[in-house]
Amino acid sequence: MRHRIEDFASWSSQLALHLDCRHEIVPDDPHGTIGVPRFRRSLAWRIALRPGGLVALAIQYGHIRTAMSAGYAARGRGGIHELLDIETARATADTLTTLHDDLAAGTGISGPAARRAIHAAAQAPAFAGSIRTHRQARDILGNPALTVYDNPQAFLMCVYNRDRALCHRLDIADTPQLDRCQPSCANVARADHHADQLLRQATSLEKQAASEALPGPLADRLSQHAEKLRALSDRHHHDRLHTQEPTS
Ligand code: SF4
Repeated sequence: MRHRIEDFASWSSQLALHLDCRHEIVPDDPHGTIGVPRFRRSLAWRIALRPGGLVALAIQYGHIRTAMSAGYAARGRGGIHELLDIETARATADTLTTLHDDLAAGTGISGPAARRAIHAAAQAPAFAGSIRTHRQARDILGNPALTVYDNPQAFLMCVYNRDRALCHRLDIADTPQLDRCQPSCANVARADHHADQLLRQATSLEKQAASEALPGPLADRLSQHAEKLRALSDRHHHDRLHTQEPTS
């Protein structure tokens, strides 16, 4: 496996060179070749922390746990399932820390789960930067008061509570299905930047709808969708709370 990882890094760098994508070349490492543990860590980090990674995680989590923990990861301590937990807990901590800082800077928040999000963000300073072990990660992921997932694709945060989730299917593990997010869910919270993103997306759709090249029915559908996004943004500005307001 070690040789295959090295071969993969070398193949990837040659392809990047061939395609003139020099920024994608795998750089030489002062600590030696990339071994299995570091490759696993990169994989877990990329799944959990890259933009959209949590969506991938939500889709793949069950599969990875089944396929990897039953085989490869179960053969040694510290398998990829533990790394995924650690990186997922770090992603959650990052979301909460960012929200905590934004709220302190005056950002407003709206949605049925807004008050729960404010409570969760208030706990961010207690664990920011302190997640190093699997046990710490499990403590955070197992705390229902802290399960906040950013979902930029849906322009919202999911303050996850399984009993209120609208995205759940019976056969899926206990994680939100971010790719199946329903705007009417009771776990939705939106910050000001989500409302800004809604407006930007609405403007982009309206521009596309105005194109003469677009068939009428498709243009109508884009316009209707843009209208819905604008309505969500308006509702955010109408309902938004500040942390100075009482949260109980
Ligand atoms: S539907 Fe609800 S629980 Fe599911 S991802 Fe969206 S906000 Fe979270």
